[in-house]
Amino acid sequence: MLRCMPLRLPLLLLLVAGVSAPAFGQPASQWASVPGPAQGPARSIGNTSLGCIQGAEALPPEGPGWQAVRLSRNRNWGHPALVAAVRDLARRAQQAGLPDLWIGDLGQPRGGPLPWGHASHQSGLDADIWLDLSPKPRVPAKARETIPERSLVLPDESAADPDLFTKAHARLIRMAAELPGIDRVLVNHGIKRSLCAAHAGEPWLRHVRPWRGHDSHMHIRLRCPADSPECRDIPPPPHGDGCDAGLDWWLSPEARNPPRRAPSGPPPRLPAAGSLLRHPFRPLSRFSPRRGRHPPPVAFHPAPRAPHRTGCPQRRGWDSRPARVPRRP
Ligand SMILES: [Zn+2]
Repeated sequence: MLRCMPLRLPLLLLLVAGVSAPAFGQPASQWASVPGPAQGPARSIGNTSLGCIQGAEALPPEGPGWQAVRLSRNRNWGHPALVAAVRDLARRAQQAGLPDLWIGDLGQPRGGPLPWGHASHQSGLDADIWLDLSPKPRVPAKARETIPERSLVLPDESAADPDLFTKAHARLIRMAAELPGIDRVLVNHGIKRSLCAAHAGEPWLRHVRPWRGHDSHMHIRLRCPADSPECRDIPPPPHGDGCDAGLDWWLSPEARNPPRRAPSGPPPRLPAAGSLLRHPFRPLSRFSPRRGRHPPPVAFHPAPRAPHRTGCPQRRGWDSRPARVPRRP
């Protein structure tokens, strides 16, 4: 069974390019350089901040109610349940009369750490949905590479900007929070505060969690699918709507200027049980992100079965207050 480990061909390319790989762990650049998914049944492995995925599916460049942006990043891959959730959300939004959604990053073809932009999005269960609800025509994929993100939050982050954040935004966030299998919807704490002002006590708010950034998009995260025994959920959101004094913490000096702590100990090892990235892969002649076309799942050469061991080391949950400034989840 294919599992998470670094690939060798991209490593060679990296060395040729003068980029050295650390002696321990698997550099994110290797994961980012894999053009296609690992063949096999879909399985999320590890957790969203330290994991990978086999059998990932690509979200098409566009569909009913959505248009994916920044396709050249090749981060439109995820567990089929995630791809279905994004499609479902877009369909519901369209039925509610909302304009097309811009869909941002999902994950890399085999998940794993990303060299920049996100700390999570590693196990195929995270997706960024932009909160731009302005009317939009169908835009060519190439033009979607440079669409600017606009914040919906006041400069002091005390609330969403009342001139920009509308009931339609709240409606879309609620739709996301009520998706089957949803774990969390991360939004800027100012957006959460505004949602609390209008919807306190409503059950869906439990799944809408405050975080830094996320002032122009929301981040949806699914719980582990049933087909992924090595997937590791973080603890579920606390009970209640989350409209409590904890929200005020985000405005505190401690939250605004968190102490930077040097990482201690060796970097965490990604799922260590095998060879997901070690397998050779066929060249992707059909892959052309600039044309917005993505290949079907890559067929891999048969490889020896790797010994089965259980997945990834774990990290802290997102509801923990961050010990250092996090990258975008
Ligand atoms: Zn995200």
